Amino acid sequence: MAQQTPRTQIIKRVTLPSGKEVDVVSFVGSSASQAIMPAPQTAPLACCPNCGHDRVQPTGWSEVGSSHWHVNLRCPDCEDRREAIFGQDELDEFDVALDEGTRAVAADLDLLARANMADDIDRFTKALDGGHIMPEDF
Ligand SMILES: [Zn+2]
Repeated sequence: MAQQTPRTQIIKRVTLPSGKEVDVVSFVGSSASQAIMPAPQTAPLACCPNCGHDRVQPTGWSEVGSSHWHVNLRCPDCEDRREAIFGQDELDEFDVALDEGTRAVAADLDLLARANMADDIDRFTKALDGGHIMPEDF
């Protein structure tokens, strides 16, 4: 007796270049389905499955049904790209990670700007003390 594989229906709305929208129905668990699969819940979306870094970014997304999204992801460190369908809860967690990443980059930028400013002031002070800047320079 053949055992049937459980099948889950996934509906993806695609906008064609003509502007017309069509629903693409695929079945997860069927051997005929080569469509985009729901991502297995293994690691946070921000973590790259290829290199392990936590800077994965979304590059595109579209709504699938009322509670799922088809998301394209890219790792800026190893250029790994993938796409899958994710639930809202997982994407909310990803959104928090993206916000934390944005804050970390902004904090690093602030530190770098302050370090550059301190370096500029130090060089300017040394130039003044060394007599390399004269009133006629202004
Ligand atoms: Zn990576």
